[in-house]
Amino acid sequence: PSGDGGKLKIAIQKSGRLHDDSIKLLKECGIDISNGVNKLKSEASNFPLEVYFLRDDDIPQYVEDAVADLGFVGENVVYEKEKQVEVVEKLGFGKCRLSIAVRRGEEYDKISSLQGKKIATSYPVLVKKFLDENNITAEIHEISGSVEIAPGIGLADAICDLVSSGSTLFMNGLKETETILNSQAVLIKNKNLDGEKQNLLNKLLFRIQSVKKAKNNKYVLLNAPNDNLKQIISLLPGMKSPTVLPLAEEGWSSVHSVISENEFWDIIEKLKAAGAQGILVVPIEKMII
Ligand code: ATP
Ligand code: MG
Repeated sequence: PSGDGGKLKIAIQKSGRLHDDSIKLLKECGIDISNGVNKLKSEASNFPLEVYFLRDDDIPQYVEDAVADLGFVGENVVYEKEKQVEVVEKLGFGKCRLSIAVRRGEEYDKISSLQGKKIATSYPVLVKKFLDENNITAEIHEISGSVEIAPGIGLADAICDLVSSGSTLFMNGLKETETILNSQAVLIKNKNLDGEKQNLLNKLLFRIQSVKKAKNNKYVLLNAPNDNLKQIISLLPGMKSPTVLPLAEEGWSSVHSVISENEFWDIIEKLKAAGAQGILVVPIEKMII
């Protein structure tokens, strides 16, 4: 047993783009933590979990050093920092991409346009890797923030920075030319968790996966004419197979099933074409298969 009462310690971002979604995910996993402003640390009231609030850049180091057992952090930070940690699960939030951008007026047709250029970035490791893979030699100028203004003030010819909508690039007269990494928040773990902590992690992971699955699926209820019931059922996968209940009205049945978000609109159209009526679509809170 570990010296800290067997509690799992998780590091999450103290404030910033990942903070709210990190807390929300823990909450959806049934874990309540009091979230005082300016607090460094908090304890879950109903799960053996201690939460540390840190700058996202520091999270991989803390997890490598086992100051925290786990962390929620962007893949961009994990791969830039190159710490000895294990990525356990993608979390589905904090989605963005790490992209190269140049001045909008500048000519750019392919990666080789970057040859000999000066690139400003907070991600020197990932940019170097990208340039090496593409046999480009360019100067990397590391800056810690406001990367997008670098070309405008003559500091660099290009930048490499995180993008989600692209509006920051646009406002600064830049155009995105290459994506070097697609990123989202992930759960990372220390590589040497003891058995007790690994068990707790498995419990947490089970909950995270149930929440993720639920988000990717919808519960669907519909009325089907019995004449077309076979065809309608064949369109619906369901968890095992759809539930079919007779309606009070003769010749009709109520059909219940679960549809994944990806195939949702596709299936709904086919259901309508097959004569389904009164289609209700309901969010699922947790899904355990
Ligand atoms: P900290 O003070 O914790 O160091 P920060 O300023 O480095 O915060 P944020 O801007 O809050 O970081 O971003 C945290 C993470 O959110 C990023 O590392 C990235 O994984 C993710 N993210 C998602 N969308 C974006 C975006 N459009 N721009 C920047 N980061 C994004
Ligand atoms: Mg940071």
